[in-house]
Amino acid sequence: MCNNHKNMTTTRVLSVPSAKAPFEKTTIERRELRPHDILIDIKFSGICHSDIHSAFGEWGGGIFPMVPGHEIAGVVEAVGTEVTKYVVGDRVGVGCFVDSCGECEYCLSGEEEQYCMKGVINTYNGLDYDGNPTYGGYSQKIVVTEGFVVRIPDGLDMDVASPLLCAGITTFSPLKHWNAGPGKKVAIVGMGGLGHVAIQFAHAMGAEVTVLSRSNNKKEKALEFGADHYFATSDPATFTELAGRFDLILNTVSANLDVDAYLSLLRIDGTLVNVGAPAEPDKYQVFSLIMGRRSIAGSLVGGIRETQEMLDFAAEHAIAPMIEVIRADQVDEAYERVLKSDVRYRFVIDISTL
Ligand code: NAP
Ligand code: ZN
Repeated sequence: MCNNHKNMTTTRVLSVPSAKAPFEKTTIERRELRPHDILIDIKFSGICHSDIHSAFGEWGGGIFPMVPGHEIAGVVEAVGTEVTKYVVGDRVGVGCFVDSCGECEYCLSGEEEQYCMKGVINTYNGLDYDGNPTYGGYSQKIVVTEGFVVRIPDGLDMDVASPLLCAGITTFSPLKHWNAGPGKKVAIVGMGGLGHVAIQFAHAMGAEVTVLSRSNNKKEKALEFGADHYFATSDPATFTELAGRFDLILNTVSANLDVDAYLSLLRIDGTLVNVGAPAEPDKYQVFSLIMGRRSIAGSLVGGIRETQEMLDFAAEHAIAPMIEVIRADQVDEAYERVLKSDVRYRFVIDISTL
């Protein structure tokens, strides 16, 4: 906690006391506003599968008690003395990180703060540069320095905007980086929170989009989101039919996959990009790469400037996550439903119920 107690803000939060424990309503203090800080009154907070990996301690090194949440949409309630980007009343968002060193080549590029050499400061389950734990968006208020806050365009409602702050940028950034666009055949693997937004972005970028989901249950929706083709991966025939087809495969699955099977779907020079982050290592045959000059890659969310670009792009192309808004006392149940893939397609907490 911050040493200066005089103007801290007490805020209600949903907190997990220890790995896998149920959520508790409690309070924490947000730091007094520094000159470049913004106090945000949070309206909606999305539930990302990363919140579950973290709150369950699956990735190791969890800092408890933990207040997850990195898909934050709210309204500016107060600004520090030197804030220039925002005024009280602005609709704003905060994603997966809230600070970076500002000095390394990746921070200075203005594009890649998430790869900060000193270590980016995660919105929750991290320590800030003063060594204080960070607490995320399952909370009424948050204080964030203005450089890590983005503007929610007028065309986007606050509730549907919240999942874009992680699910949106995590898929938009690699699709752009690996040139999803006209003439490119792109597969999206897994149609959950990330996957269903990825379909919409890849389609809007002009790529030919194929969805690879375990069953046929999500086919109708996938086509509505803009997919050109849809295949069930539970059917072995899918892998023979699609062999050598794709320029780019974006894997959004939260569990380990048969990597060789997916690599076999790539064209020569094709790339399998992982954004899904299972705790256990993946296994694959090097020959799956060698035989087609193929690549395996990964990608972490996206930078702040690109996050703003993604939100503006979503507003312009009428891209919106399909959400189920829940109350604060339904989060444990929502986690169970995400784990059963019983979510269509993102849970968003209405913070007014906290
Ligand atoms: P999600 O809503 O649970 O979606 C994951 C989807 O993966 C499911 O809907 C399901 O799709 C598929 N799936 C789940 N279990 C599977 C299994 N055992 N075998 C095959 N497919 C399975 O999760 P999310 O919020 O989109 O997050 C997805 C992953 O991305 C998580 O690991 C999360 O931590 C990670 N993530 C990474 C970043 C990053 O920066 N790289 C950012 C955010 C999230 P179908 O029903 O269609 O098969
Ligand atoms: Zn996330």
